[in-house]
Amino acid sequence: LPFCRSLPKVELHAHLINGSVDPVTLQELGCMETSILDYIKLASLSNNTSRALDECFDLFRIAHNATNTPQAVHLATRRVIEDFDKDNVIYLELRTTPRAEQGMTKQEYVEAIVTAIKEYQGDVLVKLILSINRSHDAKACQDSLDVILKKKKLYPDIIKGIDLSGNPKVGGFDSYIFKTARENGLYTTIHCGEVKNDGEVTDILGFKPDRIGHGNFVHPDYGGCQENWELLCEKRVPVECCLTSNVMTNTTRNYSEHHVKELISSGLPYTISTDDKGVFLTDLSREYSHLYDDHALTKEALWKVSFNSVDYSFASSAEKSLLKSKMIEWKRDNE
Ligand code: 5GP
Repeated sequence: LPFCRSLPKVELHAHLINGSVDPVTLQELGCMETSILDYIKLASLSNNTSRALDECFDLFRIAHNATNTPQAVHLATRRVIEDFDKDNVIYLELRTTPRAEQGMTKQEYVEAIVTAIKEYQGDVLVKLILSINRSHDAKACQDSLDVILKKKKLYPDIIKGIDLSGNPKVGGFDSYIFKTARENGLYTTIHCGEVKNDGEVTDILGFKPDRIGHGNFVHPDYGGCQENWELLCEKRVPVECCLTSNVMTNTTRNYSEHHVKELISSGLPYTISTDDKGVFLTDLSREYSHLYDDHALTKEALWKVSFNSVDYSFASSAEKSLLKSKMIEWKRDNE
């Protein structure tokens, strides 16, 4: 839909290295030939078959192997920002897990990304969310938190939030880490209800993060429980919805039956995101098109989804005002 392409968009849920780097860049970064061929083959398969969640976590490892130096991480970050820029994204929150490799510490990893963000001269306002991987042990999570807090102090205008991600079938939500992060001025977003786990969803919603990721298994018609749905309605935590990702990983049946339907009909806050555009071969314009094609949203309503997303972002008040003015101006020029 040309409208979705030109609409100024706000991306709040994009995993940087594993998920968002395109296969061509991975190849350029020297991804081993057999690995990259597998990557592309699996990516093209996605047109016909949906991928299981576990399969995607295998795919993510391929991207990690190609980005194990600060130089590679820097280049990959630049390319991902440029891709979003081409898609008329005006505000972008990238998220990534600080990662140590043989030739790179977690600190150097974060530095490489921050440097790429600072060097970027285009029109997108870019912020960084640092992730804790739920499958890591307590010591590794604490170590990541220490790095995150240190880097947040150094780059308070870029590093805005903390996320909990990783394989939802492994590990859990450690409220201590997120309380500490919040006390230190970080916004919080937590992957929540990607698989059925009512107890964990209750704990996460009880913590009231600034946003949650996915939220598939919250509504009772979608495998959640009534109490958690009521909790979401009461707390009104904005939900980051990633339609293509959920269709590809089989956590929803199809686009039109995606749980965003319940959020729309209940008037709950939500935003639309790509999650892993490199792995799922999507972009934010396509995600917006699905709201138009499969959920009957009007063009006016699509604009409003993007406009409201500014409020759910981790930008400063001044930045939010500027983004909103840009969107209002675009609307005036395109009516
Ligand atoms: P990176 O941290 O390497 O920049 O981004 C990829 C990582 O993000 C993956 O290894 C995984 O931990 C996390 N990730 C990517 N997509 C998803 C998803 O759909 N669900 C969850 N829970 N984690 C994800």
